[in-house]
Amino acid sequence: MGGSVDVKREAAGILDRLGVPRDAWTGGAMASFTPVTGERIGALHPVSAEAAAGRIEAAHRAFLDWRLVPAPRRGELVRLLGEELRAAKDDLGRMVSIEAGKIASEGLGEVQEMIDICDFAVGLSRQLYGLTIATERPGHRMMETWHPLGVVGIISAFNFPVAVWSWNAALALVCGNAVVWKPSEKTPLTALACQAVLERALARFGGAPENLSQVLIGDRAAGEALVDHPRVALVSATGSTRMGREVGPRLAKRFARSILELGGNNAAIVCPSADLDMALRAIAFGAMGTAGQRCTTLRRLFVHDSVYEQLVPKLKAVYAGVSVGNPLETPALVGPLIDRAAFEGMQQALRAAKAEGGAVAGGERVADAGRDTAYYVRPAIVEMPRQSGPVLEETFAPILYVMRYTDFDAVLAQHNAVSAGLSSSIFTLDIREAERFLSAEGSDCGIANVNIGTSGAEIGGAFGGEKETGGGRESGSDAWRAYMRRATNTVNYSNALPLAQGVSFDVG
Ligand code: NAD
Repeated sequence: MGGSVDVKREAAGILDRLGVPRDAWTGGAMASFTPVTGERIGALHPVSAEAAAGRIEAAHRAFLDWRLVPAPRRGELVRLLGEELRAAKDDLGRMVSIEAGKIASEGLGEVQEMIDICDFAVGLSRQLYGLTIATERPGHRMMETWHPLGVVGIISAFNFPVAVWSWNAALALVCGNAVVWKPSEKTPLTALACQAVLERALARFGGAPENLSQVLIGDRAAGEALVDHPRVALVSATGSTRMGREVGPRLAKRFARSILELGGNNAAIVCPSADLDMALRAIAFGAMGTAGQRCTTLRRLFVHDSVYEQLVPKLKAVYAGVSVGNPLETPALVGPLIDRAAFEGMQQALRAAKAEGGAVAGGERVADAGRDTAYYVRPAIVEMPRQSGPVLEETFAPILYVMRYTDFDAVLAQHNAVSAGLSSSIFTLDIREAERFLSAEGSDCGIANVNIGTSGAEIGGAFGGEKETGGGRESGSDAWRAYMRRATNTVNYSNALPLAQGVSFDVG
């Protein structure tokens, strides 16, 4: 597993092909690493506070022009972006594997998600509809108009280093906004690559205002510059609940808009009637995919007592045998953790689970990983006597806590008894259980599924969660509305001036 691929060289080749200037990622003070081997692959230049402010002002100037471009024409830019992403898919997908450690099919899948949202946004550019509303006054018409908002700030997490940007940027651009992106400090190279791909689309488009899209390379200070700048009308921030707790109040203080996409502690319930083979496969992907580093990763599994002995031993066998390895060289299903801190967080959670009476299988570092600077682990499955201790928190690593249940009402309550509310699923062939899970008394999450896992959402639906997941929605459905401002317009085409609610105000 140690690696015959020269990761650094391969990253350089990809960045060159995508047109990222070498001086953007060499010679700077901010190191970037690949979790595949742990080696340093870039030395970037973090943006200063002054430069960040200057870029935000420049984006604002771009917005002033872009808002006047007809929306279907703005859609043309995003159509071209989709074309460029199709052409760059292999390179960008590989770059995601290099920088975030995703296995090849998940790296490519993330780029496909970018292409999908571009297609969606192109259609949307002709569908930014407002309502016409009946008015109580004769000779009047009332309607809603949706206008561009301003500069949209995007803060993204390491685990979806390119898709989250595109979910926000594709929608923001067709909605008439400029975008400024602060990517994760753990995945800055993929951000430079995305910007280069967008610049190709901009060159083909011709005539778009300069500085319509900008990238702020840096750590949280660069994110704070975006959060605090009065020109930034909306910040869409994806990351931990800790980050959201800092960002949310700062935005609220200046009455800016926010879309918060924060941590999850997602659960599935396996009922007596479940198709257990299907459940097994869905659980394996949901809990171990992306090495447990998805916001929608399955972390809590409630299994009915009557099927527990049929399902859980098989699941443990899958865990014991799943392939763990270098995503650039092997067809392994589980790649590396992002860094040492992630590994230590995982070990700490496993120790805490044991202290709560949990029986842990797996979780150890995979010994033959080649370099001690990369953190490959066997996913852990932990049978817990009850939902307590670390089960109540998100640990961003492949740990699945398994618990028995007997009573459906009690398991629904347990399901909802955590602070996050992102994704959830139920495995059942009983329509009453399925419908109750989806009903007002069922799952309290933003995503509730039946007979599929918690992860792997499509772009067509609105994505996001409740409670400490932040309440934001992005991607499909009507999420676009958050990127625009709504004006209610009333037009009087009569010769009189009737007042609403029958109010009389006769000045003679
Ligand atoms: P993180 O919170 O450490 O960092 C996320 C981003 O926020 C980074 O760009 C970081 O620089 C920035 N940031 C951190 N503190 C900030 C501050 N005070 N002001 C401004 N910016 C700040 O998260 P991470 O480790 O990169 O990602 C993992 C977390 O993200 C998990 O909790 C996961 O569930 C969550 N996540 C959520 C979603 C979702 O859609 N709900 C999607 C992906 C990841």
